[in-house]
Amino acid sequence: MAAFTPQTDLNFIRDFALLNETTNDRFKDFLREKDDQELDTLVQELDALVSPAISCTDCGNCCKSLMVCLNETEATALAGHLHQTREEFDARYLEKGSNGMMIMNQMPCPFLSEDKCTVYEYRFEGCREFPALHLPHFKRRLFTTFMHYDRCPIIFNVVEQIKERMDFE
Ligand code: SF4
Ligand code: SF4
Repeated sequence: MAAFTPQTDLNFIRDFALLNETTNDRFKDFLREKDDQELDTLVQELDALVSPAISCTDCGNCCKSLMVCLNETEATALAGHLHQTREEFDARYLEKGSNGMMIMNQMPCPFLSEDKCTVYEYRFEGCREFPALHLPHFKRRLFTTFMHYDRCPIIFNVVEQIKERMDFE
């Protein structure tokens, strides 16, 4: 089998996504009909093929549009790294929901500089897991996955490979 060469041109991916919005809406409906377990297995197999071929540190695109959630431990660790008290850190960076959920209050993420994460060792679990194609229940995340199809080369390549493997036209 020929070696897999991913598409990493962000302009191409954005333009292709724009041209294929209707097709992708049809594709989402097509995927909703598939068996959860079989689809998860295929997505995880493709993620293992695609992810190692793409360098997130050369991209950083998701950090411009991700709604980043964090927990108390992550917030305290990063505040310490930044030599800030939790009060300072929280006031500057966090939005708190009534249910205790905490999200970053800015988008793009304030820790992104020149497309690089400046707090890489302290980035949050949500950042580490994104685009989460290695996790089960892919179908439950169709909305967020396709929201980033036009800007995440990992998602773009995995989705295009699923189309090929499933003979979607
Ligand atoms: S913390 Fe780092 S990896 Fe996470 S969104 Fe911000 S810049 Fe991106
Ligand atoms: S997860 Fe996707 S959008 Fe985010 S840095 Fe990696 S390739 Fe880019």
